[in-house]
Amino acid sequence: MTQALTTLADRVTGQVIRPGDAGYDEARRVWNGAIDAHPAAVVRCATADDVVAVVRLAQDQRMELAVRGGGHGVAGFGTRDGAIVADLSPMQHVDVDDAAATARAGGGTTWGRLNDVTAAHGTATPGGIISTTGIGGLTLGGGIGYLNRAHGLTCDNLLSARVVTAAGEQLTASEDEHPDLFWALRGGGGNFGVVTEFTYRLHAIPENVLVGLQFFELTDGPAVFAHFRDTISAAPREYGGYPAMHLAPPLPFIPEDRVGEPFAVVVSCWTGDPADGERFLAGIRGVAPPAAEMVAPMPYPAVNALFDPLLPPGTRSYWKNAFVTELPDEAIAVHVEHGARLPVVTGTMHLYTLDGAPREVASDATAFGHRDARYVANIAGMWADPADDERMIRWVRDYFAALRPYTEPGGYTNFASADDAPRAAEDLGANHARLTEVKRRYDPDNLFHLNQNVPPSPV
Ligand code: FAD
Repeated sequence: MTQALTTLADRVTGQVIRPGDAGYDEARRVWNGAIDAHPAAVVRCATADDVVAVVRLAQDQRMELAVRGGGHGVAGFGTRDGAIVADLSPMQHVDVDDAAATARAGGGTTWGRLNDVTAAHGTATPGGIISTTGIGGLTLGGGIGYLNRAHGLTCDNLLSARVVTAAGEQLTASEDEHPDLFWALRGGGGNFGVVTEFTYRLHAIPENVLVGLQFFELTDGPAVFAHFRDTISAAPREYGGYPAMHLAPPLPFIPEDRVGEPFAVVVSCWTGDPADGERFLAGIRGVAPPAAEMVAPMPYPAVNALFDPLLPPGTRSYWKNAFVTELPDEAIAVHVEHGARLPVVTGTMHLYTLDGAPREVASDATAFGHRDARYVANIAGMWADPADDERMIRWVRDYFAALRPYTEPGGYTNFASADDAPRAAEDLGANHARLTEVKRRYDPDNLFHLNQNVPPSPV
């Protein structure tokens, strides 16, 4: 293996970083600081050919292969003891075709980079709400963010992908070429190959969108969540947002003496006429007076970087999530009760809505099958100090257990923690059997198994 890695280093354009090399300690790490793995090598793949070389070496040497896009997967599949890591972070090229309204982006691109480039063309594709997340994992698992209600999930806007398969072949997956693979890539995660380039449909976006962060007293939380539930389906598609539970962070618009207190929050992004957006947010304000709020225009890339400072690389993380079809008052009461017990300011619960365009796509049209769900509830334990490990994990688990009577069996693969691996089949729902067939065709030996895994044969 040592010789094989030396030969690889001579063959690839990118850097091969091994234990003892300068930069190894940084290269082995992923965003979740609680993951502490020591791979045999991290290969900073600069080209698709580099990826082919890594895939072939993993096959020849029977090494575990970890594929890393932005490294945000909370389960930590982007690194592994003894594995070879295909780190796609050097592959961040973005090319916009204005006439076709499409963007091609390298498999290791982050949302911040893609948003910056497309915004300069007055366009965007639906992405995630943190700029440092990779387009790779997020797109392959589905993709939830502010533009979903208008334009669908991220994977609904994927037009084609360049893929390196387990056999080391490079091919294009689209509606016309390898449509089975293209179907599986839109929600089935990293199971089917390494995507070296994604092509997205772009949509016009105004220079500034209107952003709202409205913090409500816990006593008003039930009314605010119920208002969201009762009005979201009829809300204009220009509205993207979600109810949440937070401790107030130290931001300029939060009264100093309220920092660290728990609040029910509505996070909003409005892409239409700002005056209409102001009126829409006033409607939420009409339910109860916010204890603090910020409503401001800002460029779309800035909205998606708003929370970045709270969540630097190395943030320790443990999440539990589930799809939600109905949101009865009893479930809202659980959110307010357990959200109020949040131990540290960086933790949160986000109740993302799937309302709008995502629900208009048939559940079997792409591998992302949970199109009947109305929400994804994500209880996101995120903290900095290892001394908080136990109480944060306990907070997430207690909250999740209390919410379970009001959730569906499966969850969103992109929010899975390492101990969610046994429920991968539930997460992929009714599409799991078809995903197994595609897996057998493209990865019969399960080379790509460090993910919410679809084994090639039933387990
Ligand atoms: P990685 O850890 O690099 O990869 C995760 C998985 O995807 C691995 O199994 C990997 O093998 C596979 N993968 C990644 N890139 C490729 C590729 N190019 N080809 C093949 N396989 C690949 N999700 C949302 O939907 N919306 C959000 O707003 C959102 N916000 C988030 C904010 C934070 C702070 C974090 C930590 C996560 C967030 N997520 C969000 C979840 C996110 O979608 C997943 O963590 C996703 O896996 C991240 O992709 P990545 O490329 O950064 O992760």
